[in-house]
Amino acid sequence: MPIIEVYLSNAKMNNMPSVSIVVPVYNEEKSIEELVARVTRVCDTINRSYELILVDDGSHDDSQKKIEDAVKKNAGKVVGVFLNRNYGQHSAIMAGLAQADGNAIVTLDADLQNPPEEIPRLLEQIEKGADVVGTVRTPRHDTLFRRIASYIVNKVAQKATGVIMCDYGCMLRAYRREIVDAMLQCHERSTFIPILANSFAHKTMEIDVTHAERPAGDSKYGLWKLINLQFDLLTSMTTFPLRLLSIIGGAISALGVGFGLFLFVMRLLYGPIWAAEGVFTLFAVLFIFVGVQFIGMGLLGEYIGRIYHDVRARPRYFIRNVIGKNSK
Ligand code: UDP
Ligand code: MG
Repeated sequence: MPIIEVYLSNAKMNNMPSVSIVVPVYNEEKSIEELVARVTRVCDTINRSYELILVDDGSHDDSQKKIEDAVKKNAGKVVGVFLNRNYGQHSAIMAGLAQADGNAIVTLDADLQNPPEEIPRLLEQIEKGADVVGTVRTPRHDTLFRRIASYIVNKVAQKATGVIMCDYGCMLRAYRREIVDAMLQCHERSTFIPILANSFAHKTMEIDVTHAERPAGDSKYGLWKLINLQFDLLTSMTTFPLRLLSIIGGAISALGVGFGLFLFVMRLLYGPIWAAEGVFTLFAVLFIFVGVQFIGMGLLGEYIGRIYHDVRARPRYFIRNVIGKNSK
C-alpha cells in the first residue's frame, strides 16, 4: 500500500469512534436530556472514543428538537438520525446501525428503563471475545401481561435459534462490528434484531442488569404493536408454521382413513344398522378430504417459504475469519 494511503487509512481509523451507542427514540421528549447526560457521563469514563446515535422514529412530540439540541451541545459525540415516519423500534435501530462506525455497538432504549451505567460491563464482555452480549433484566419492572408475553417469546426463540438466551426482549445489548455488518446485509423488512444477531454470532454472553420503572411517558407498545412484533419474531426465525399445515393435514387424513377402516370392519361384524346407516362413513370421507386440503396448503406453504427465504436474500453464510491465506 502506498505510504499516503496507509496514512489516510490510519487517519480514518483514528477518527472512527470505537464505540457506537444506538438509541431508538419515539415520543420520548421527557427522557432525552437525562439519557444524553447519563450516556455521555458514562462514556467519558471508558477511555475510548464514542458516538451516541439517536434515531428519531417519526416522533410527534418535541423529541426531534431535543435531539437537535443534544447534537449542538455535544458536537462530535452525539449524532441525530431522523426518520420521516414511525417504522417501529427494530427498523429504527437498523437505521442507527447503518450509521454506526464503532468497532463495538451498543443498543439501548431511550426510556432509561435500562441504566446506561451498565455499558462498560457490556463492552468488557465484547473485549473478552463475545460477539453478542445480551442482558437479563433482574428484577423486572413490567406488567404481568408483558412478562408472560416475554416468557413465551423467550422459550420459542430458544427452541428456534438453538441459542440459549434468557431474555430476548431486553434491548440493552452489545454487538461486535462484524455482526452488525452481517445484519446490515439482511434486507428483509420485518426484523427482530436479537434473533438476527444471534444467527450470526459464534460466542454469546448474557449478564444481569437492573431494570427500572419507566420514569416518564408510557410504553410505546400497545397490544397491536406487540402482536405485530410477535409475528415479526416468528417469521424472522422460521417458516415451520407453513410446514405445520402439511403435518396437520397428514394427521387428519390418516385419522380419516383409520376411521373408515374401523367403520368398514364394524359394518362387516355388526351389519348396516351399526354407525347410523352409513352416516359416519361420510365423516371418514370428509376427514380424508379436509386433510388433503391441508396438505395442499402446506405444499403451497413450502413454495412460499422458499420464495420468502430468497426474497429476504440473507447472506448464505457468514465467515468469521480466514487464516493461512495470503492477503491480496
Ligand atoms: N420505540 C421506537 N419506535 C416505536 C416504538 C418504540 O423507536 O415504534 C423506542 C422507544 O422510544 C424506546 C424503545 O423503542 O426507546 C422501547 O420502547 P418502550 O420502552 O415503549 O418498550 P417497552 O419498554 O415497553 O418494551
Ligand atoms: Mg421501555
